[in-house]
Amino acid sequence: MKKLQYERPVIQKLNTGLTNKFGTRTESDPVTHIDDLAVEKLIAQFGSPLFVLSEQTIRSAFRDASRAFKNRYPKVQFAWSYKTNYISAVCNVFHQEGSWAEVVSGFEYEKALANGVPGNKIIFNGPDKSENDLKQAITNDSLIHIDHMDELYMLKDIAAAANKKPRVAIRVNMDTGIFPAWDRFGFNYENGEAMEAVSKICNDTQLSLVGLHCHIGTFMMSTSAYGIAAKKLSEFALNIRKKFNRNIEYIDMGGGFASKNTLKGSFLPGTDASPTFDQYAEAICESLLNAGFTQENLPLLILETGRALVDEAGYLLGSVISNKRLSDGRRATIMDFGVNILFTSFWYDHKISPAQSFGSHHEDTVLYGPLCMNIDMLRENIPFPPLKKNDKVVVHTVGAYNMTQWMQFISMRPAVVMIGTDGKVNLIRRRETIQSIQHEEEMPLYLKNFKL
Ligand SMILES: *Cc1c(COP(=O)(O)O)cnc(C)c1O
Repeated sequence: MKKLQYERPVIQKLNTGLTNKFGTRTESDPVTHIDDLAVEKLIAQFGSPLFVLSEQTIRSAFRDASRAFKNRYPKVQFAWSYKTNYISAVCNVFHQEGSWAEVVSGFEYEKALANGVPGNKIIFNGPDKSENDLKQAITNDSLIHIDHMDELYMLKDIAAAANKKPRVAIRVNMDTGIFPAWDRFGFNYENGEAMEAVSKICNDTQLSLVGLHCHIGTFMMSTSAYGIAAKKLSEFALNIRKKFNRNIEYIDMGGGFASKNTLKGSFLPGTDASPTFDQYAEAICESLLNAGFTQENLPLLILETGRALVDEAGYLLGSVISNKRLSDGRRATIMDFGVNILFTSFWYDHKISPAQSFGSHHEDTVLYGPLCMNIDMLRENIPFPPLKKNDKVVVHTVGAYNMTQWMQFISMRPAVVMIGTDGKVNLIRRRETIQSIQHEEEMPLYLKNFKL
């Protein structure tokens, strides 16, 4: 006969149907399926932990965003922010929806090219573009967004040597009323640096200034900051027209729209607190439309939204390794995924659902990952039903920044699958293996052998 599981008894206040100011928490309703596929089956097929992406959710988020802007403004173009999630299958969903690529390194640039994005539809951002990166971007007629003066000078030299006239924009940072201001990237608007960069470009025939770019922050809860930024860039574009008789073809408002995640310390869940695409679009488009451009000179509006388009489409499935009592009596549950693959747990309280039904009792629980490191805490305190070894959980809203910022640390990174709009599941990144990790290592001959 199988022995019954024993857990040492402690006296703890149990809560049923925990409520907050808005009623009963629905946080821990079981989530047994993702897009109609059973969590149990996905884990049986691909292992635990497992990242799952919903193609349907990505496409509908994209269409919502696109509709919000195109309903308000006649010329809109999205460019997929590679660093948010550069798994190629994910990028290609966005490219199929019509997005260009937005990259911030030579590596991401290569990835976009390899995915088949035409060079002239790649926006090259970031402070660290090497000489070779710039040469390649010039050859491919990509849009180069200049971050600092040294890059501007280097670009002029390379363009002169290649006898080309690359299309460039400058990244502009400015006071949008938020604190702390993001002023480390690009040229400052208020102190005149941005205009200085523009005159260096326009008083010279080597570079062609076609756009203005900003990316004012990330997970921005304030839509009015976007309104201010769009207003300032529009004024700037009109000034450039007056001063240098140069038409600014596009204004790129960057990314930074908040996803539906819940920031740590936020009282309201992100689903209630984060602005909608319509609210962001209203703030930006109103500024652009009222800035004083003539109809034929209305700039193209480019958006580099990342997290808000992909966060909700991502899930992390995992399993319980064990439970224990901490010295103060608190319940601790150890999961098979840690902060090394769920990087965003450092700043979000992700919604986490058990993947099977359970009773009505909840207990405040500390969620740990499997790493043999004290920092590996997924959640300091979550009201959770008592799960057993091998029970499954679903972590929600993990599609942004986890599959790029994850670390191969102590254990290998899990597989990533995408559930297609046809309801079928496709492997889009294999689970790492000892071979794939060792592949990059070299052993000097004299270290090959030892005796113990
Ligand atoms: C990171 C980044 C984005 C995307 O930001 P999200 O917060 O994911 O929307 C867009 N543009 C630039 C320049 C970036 O660095």
